[in-house]
Amino acid sequence: MSKSRAYTFKDPTSEEQLATMRAVVRETARNVPGVYRMIADNGEIVYVGKSKQIRSRLLSYFRASYPEDKGARILREAVKVEWDYEPSEFAALLCELRLIKKYRPRFNVAMKRDTRHYSFIRISRGAAPRLNVVRGASPDDAAVYYGPFVGAQRVSEAVRELNDVLGLRDCRSDMPIFFSDQHELFQIGRTPGCIRYEIGKCLGPCVGGCTFAEYDRQLALARAFLDGSNAGPADTLRQQMEAASRAMQFERAAIFRDKLSRLETLREQFDRLRFAVESLSFVYNVSGCDGRHRTYVIRRGVVRAELDTPTSRRDRAAMRRLVADIFDEKPAPSWSVPTHEIDELLLLSSWFRKFPEEMKRATRVA
Ligand code: SF4
Repeated sequence: MSKSRAYTFKDPTSEEQLATMRAVVRETARNVPGVYRMIADNGEIVYVGKSKQIRSRLLSYFRASYPEDKGARILREAVKVEWDYEPSEFAALLCELRLIKKYRPRFNVAMKRDTRHYSFIRISRGAAPRLNVVRGASPDDAAVYYGPFVGAQRVSEAVRELNDVLGLRDCRSDMPIFFSDQHELFQIGRTPGCIRYEIGKCLGPCVGGCTFAEYDRQLALARAFLDGSNAGPADTLRQQMEAASRAMQFERAAIFRDKLSRLETLREQFDRLRFAVESLSFVYNVSGCDGRHRTYVIRRGVVRAELDTPTSRRDRAAMRRLVADIFDEKPAPSWSVPTHEIDELLLLSSWFRKFPEEMKRATRVA
C-alpha cells in the first residue's frame, strides 16, 4: 500500500465540517485506484469502499442529494476518512474485500451479502447418512459439504426431491438405525410410523427396510448427482414424467415436471460453481500505476500468492518455484468451496466475467 491521508471532524453532520473535508479530499487525493475507510469517532470503521479513481469517488460522497442516500448516511456516522492508493483496480478490489472481512464494517454488512447468506448441502457421517441444507460449512466436522448455493429454500426443495427419488432418510440425526442385515432387527417393531416409509419415499433404514449396501448404493447415486458424474435421479423423474404423459395423466406428469425442474436448477448451480472453480487457475499479471506491476497466483478462484511482477532472471525463477509449489498441492474437490474462500471466488469470478479481455494477461500453468 502507498501513503494514506486522513482528516478528522468533530461534528460529522455539520455543513462546515463537510465543506472542510471536501476541500481536503479535493486538494490532497489523487485520481488513482485505492481503498478508503470511513471511521467513527470511537475508532470503529463503519464503511470500506474502493474505486479506480479515489478522488472522484470520495468527492461524490459530498454530492448526495438526499439524507437517505448511502453516501449521506455514511458521512453522518463518520468523523474521519482514510485512504490508501493501490496499484490497480484489481488490487483495490481485493484489498477492499480483505478489509471488509477483517473489520465487518456495519454499512458494508448491511449492504452486501456475506458468507452466511450462502447455504450448503451437507452429507452427514455415520449409519445411514442424510442430506440436509445448512447455512455454513463447519470446518471441523467430518461431514461432506457441497456448495455454496444461493436460495436456501430452493436448495431445500431440490434436496427433498433427491431424498424422495433415491429413498434416503431425512429424519432427525439421532434416529436409531437398523439395517435388515443387522442382528438387532428382531428388537424393533415393523413400522417406524413414518409417512415417507409408508408411501415408498424412504428405504426405511430405521426398520430394517433395506440392507446397509442398498442404502449405501442410493447414497452413492446422490453423491454422483451432486458432483456431476451421474444424472440418474433426474433421469428417473424424466422417465416418470414421460410415462405419466403417455398414460394421459397430465396432472401427475406436471408434478414430475416440477420435481425435475427443482433438481435441474440445483445441477445448474453446481455447473456454474464447478466452472468458476476449475477455470480460475492461472498466473495473472496486472499492470499498475506508477510502474507498480503485480503478479497474482490464482488457483481454484482464490489468490494464493501475490508479488511484484519479477523483472530479473533470479526473481522469475523464484516465482516459477512458488507457482510450482502452489499447483503441486492436491486439489480439493470442485463441488465444494470452503466458507472462507467463497467471497474471493465470487469476486474473481465476477471480475473476469465483467472484463473477459483481462484473461489475455493470464498464463495457464501446465
Ligand atoms: S422411514 Fe425411518 S429412516 Fe426413513 S425418514 Fe422415516 S423415520 Fe427416517
